[in-house]
Amino acid sequence: MQSNANRNVAVIGGGIGGLTTALAFAQQGAAVTVYEKAPALTEVGAGLQITPNGMRALYALGLEKALSVTGVRAAAVIPTDAVTGHEITRFDLSSQSPAYRFFHRAALIDLLARACAAAGVTVQLNAKIADVQVDGSFLAAGKRLRPDLTIGADGLHSTVRSVINKPTTPFFTGQVAWRALVKTTDADPVARIWMAPGRHVVTYPLSGGRLNIVAVQQRSQWADEGWNHPDDPGNLRHVFADCHWSLKSILADVEKVNLWGLFRHPVAQRWQMGTLAILGDAAHPTLPFLAQGANLAIEDAYVLAQSCNAHETLNTGLRIYQQARRDRVIRAIKVANANARNYHYAGVKRKVAHGGLRAMGAVAPKAFLNRLSWLYDFDVSA
Ligand SMILES: Cc1cc2nc3c(=O)[nH]c(=O)nc-3n(C[C@H](O)[C@H](O)[C@H](O)COP(=O)(O)OP(=O)(O)OC[C@H]3O[C@@H](n4cnc5c(N)ncnc54)[C@H](O)[C@@H]3O)c2cc1C
Repeated sequence: MQSNANRNVAVIGGGIGGLTTALAFAQQGAAVTVYEKAPALTEVGAGLQITPNGMRALYALGLEKALSVTGVRAAAVIPTDAVTGHEITRFDLSSQSPAYRFFHRAALIDLLARACAAAGVTVQLNAKIADVQVDGSFLAAGKRLRPDLTIGADGLHSTVRSVINKPTTPFFTGQVAWRALVKTTDADPVARIWMAPGRHVVTYPLSGGRLNIVAVQQRSQWADEGWNHPDDPGNLRHVFADCHWSLKSILADVEKVNLWGLFRHPVAQRWQMGTLAILGDAAHPTLPFLAQGANLAIEDAYVLAQSCNAHETLNTGLRIYQQARRDRVIRAIKVANANARNYHYAGVKRKVAHGGLRAMGAVAPKAFLNRLSWLYDFDVSA
């Protein structure tokens, strides 16, 4: 029986998925190197919601204490009519265990990087991996390396994905997102979903008196070549100019904002081949409307390490990893896609949808969480 203890593992990509993977393998005794093309381990963008399912996997990696001092514990999700400013309902999260938390991305990356260092992971920065081959070998700083296992945690434009699968170009989802941070004195630890026809804004607080803002608009085209670019905050405010003053007063404080075209691929057919595997956005990029991209990457990381450690051969471990993950991920992505419609309804559909939410909150306040219990209550370590 081979276990991870005797393995030499390369992780391509030092994002949330890659660092969690490195930690999980290193804790099982593997010699792990993370290759990150950027000059530092950091994250573009501001906040991240980590839901109980993702937290459970991170707890299983021994991070409970660090997480509880780094993130803000969420009390509720509040769907709000962005035009009238009325709260439609309030879904209580305070009984969630582990807690649902809001993190600054850089703080979560830092926490993972520290845990990796303590577990003996080597991180190589400015290390853009090229020419990945089907035998699992790749070029790093001009040298060809062939570890026992090569894991692509290399995001939307994954090179490992296109070695295992037929290469595809990411498609524009018809949605753009502005991301910004503003100072706040309102410490109410809730995620507010401000819904308007064809648009929505999600706001939630982060530690240090900051409010995270993600504002989304449906668009037919994304003309820019890059995935994101700095935008004039006036453009963001213009899109929500017909909304309630309570939302507009938040957007009025935005001084710096980036605009992103939201792109994705279909879920990859194959997540492994020989000594290669993929996870996170490399395998299944999703719209952010269920806040699951990073959570699913964290779950993948845990399952991949466990599966490779527990099975007779690497081949079986990798096959079972894909089997264990694919259907769950597809289900989560479907719900995220449906939320794009639900949040953006106009006219009669909007009235009906808001009425339905209001009734659910009044008659069966637990129904929201019950409907997501397959997602949030899942224990990857069980
Ligand atoms: C607006 C928005 C809000 C979101 N909110 C949430 C949320 O609240 N909760 C949630 O769970 N998810 C959220 N997500 C999704 C989440 O950000 C992603 O799903 C998650 O970051 C994916 O992590 P990853 O590690 O798989 O990939 P990435 O974060 O993309 O990391 C990939 C890494 O690989 C590196 N890399 C790429 N190619 C190479 C190479 N050839 N060599 C070396 N390094 C390489 C990159 O530099 C990068 O560091 C949101 C996304 C968006 C756009």
